[in-house]
Amino acid sequence: MRAYNFSAGPAMLPDDVMLTAQQEMLDWHGTGMSVMEMSHRGPEYTSIAEQAEADLRELMGISDDYAVLFLQGGASSQFSMIPMNLLNGKTHADYFNTGAWSEKAITEAGRYTKVNVVADAKPSHYRTIPDKVEWQLSDNAAYVHYTPNETIHGIEFANIPEVGDTPLIADMSSTILSRPVDVNRFGLIYAGAQKNIGPAGLCIVIVRKDLIGKTLPGTPVMFDYKIHADNGSMYNTPATYSWYLAGLVFQWLKQKGGLQGMAEINQRKAAKLYATIDGSDFYANPVDIRYRSWMNIPFTLANSDLDKQFLADAAKEGLLTLKGHRDLGGMRASIYNAMPEAGVDKLIGFMSEFERRFG
Ligand SMILES: *Cc1c(COP(=O)(O)O)cnc(C)c1O
Repeated sequence: MRAYNFSAGPAMLPDDVMLTAQQEMLDWHGTGMSVMEMSHRGPEYTSIAEQAEADLRELMGISDDYAVLFLQGGASSQFSMIPMNLLNGKTHADYFNTGAWSEKAITEAGRYTKVNVVADAKPSHYRTIPDKVEWQLSDNAAYVHYTPNETIHGIEFANIPEVGDTPLIADMSSTILSRPVDVNRFGLIYAGAQKNIGPAGLCIVIVRKDLIGKTLPGTPVMFDYKIHADNGSMYNTPATYSWYLAGLVFQWLKQKGGLQGMAEINQRKAAKLYATIDGSDFYANPVDIRYRSWMNIPFTLANSDLDKQFLADAAKEGLLTLKGHRDLGGMRASIYNAMPEAGVDKLIGFMSEFERRFG
């Protein structure tokens, strides 16, 4: 039986996608080869790779001003690649600090440049985002970095921050493809695949072409966006199978009505789970309602002695991986695109029943 898996990442993938992959496992389109066994430079794999990029460009409305890169090293490598590639002679970069992933990006950037923290949500324990009037954007920053959705703290920006002409960089690892976004507002968008794109091993980078080709001296060739852009992400062997599965997910998204269609479903899923939490004294979510994540919903039980029982009983119902991040405790339900609405409904039913028994 397929369970509903609320893992923050690697996360659920759509059944339809995995069934297609299963069907094509030994013999992709009559070639007699698995995608895993293909040369990345052969015509079969080239067609898979190009179709995936074309579908992603269509889904997100990505213009030719941007390169789309299919890299390895996870989102975490981007924490280093961004300063290495985009400082461009500037003395500093601006970073929003809104949660655990922002912190990591800031720490890594600090190895290469001076970091100006534009706004710091840490004093609120990452439960709210400072108001715009308090933001301290600096003059002449190389770029502004932010994390639209903080996967661990379950907090997200309600809007894209206004930063003038400075290139805006977004770590969209846990929110990409969850709704439409105006790519033209960004200098660079990156996302590790294992939350809302496909299996682990792949990191997608969407970068404005005019920003690249100005790396710091000593930058490793594998960390140079221009090298990857000029080589169609095939300077070396890419994560071929992850790229293929991401392509199947893009096709699935197109069938589902694209990102507008996903946005409606995602908003509905999140709204009903928050309504369940807010409508009870037994469950609580600490995040400012203006900045609550659609994708990662942390919640606590009034009596944390019941946490183990909650997790065990949920698992018996096929509701898996609800344990909160080790830094926060409690629970966390990650409800990315591939989590069916029926999974959220089942979780809500379980939560109400658990409250009736133990509340
Ligand atoms: C998961 C995550 C990362 C880290 O991704 P890796 O691919 O494991 O390096 C970075 N940022 C955000 C927002 C994430 O959710």
